[in-house]
Amino acid sequence: MKRILCTMITLLMVLTACAAPVASEPESTKYVHTPYVSNTTPDKCFVCGDNQSTLPWGEDNIGILNLNTFEMLHIEINRYENGQLLEKPAGFFQNRGMTCGESNVQAMTNPDRGYSNIQIQGQLQPIDSVALQSHLCQDCLDKINDMYFGDYPPKEYAIVNFADKTLRPLIQNTTFFSSGNYGINCNFEENGEVDLIVFYCPPRYK
Ligand SMILES: [Zn+2]
Repeated sequence: MKRILCTMITLLMVLTACAAPVASEPESTKYVHTPYVSNTTPDKCFVCGDNQSTLPWGEDNIGILNLNTFEMLHIEINRYENGQLLEKPAGFFQNRGMTCGESNVQAMTNPDRGYSNIQIQGQLQPIDSVALQSHLCQDCLDKINDMYFGDYPPKEYAIVNFADKTLRPLIQNTTFFSSGNYGINCNFEENGEVDLIVFYCPPRYK
């Protein structure tokens, strides 16, 4: 009897411990966005500047852009030759990657089916606001400032759409968004890495 009573008391203690309220996340860990302020001029801006010949602007494609280094991985779901859209089967997958500091991006693209599977792996870094502010003009930064909401800091990667010249940073509370003719599905892992499925989905009916 004594042993049973002892066991019951122990069980009660365990249950009481389990029922203890979980401390809520301290407010200080939540991300509060400080608007970016440009320290460059529009002619040197990555999006609006005089770099038209070095980037595939106008293509109906997207790229994965590192916002700290402005290195970019071109995802060629639509293929072009001398500026002209190739409307014929590719017959292959395209496997491309890039390394930016402590992280890397790997993309497996299927042009014939119109999608790309992209993994952003490694140790992603916080946004270096000084670097970002030196690559974009105030108009472009204002568009990015307007996108931040919620409690998560932005990732150091963004989707750049070459057709409509837009940038969209990856933010943890946005698991799906569209960018021009593309849908972007974002899966944020607990370790900070991100898996993306990018698919080409232009309007079906006109
Ligand atoms: Zn700009």
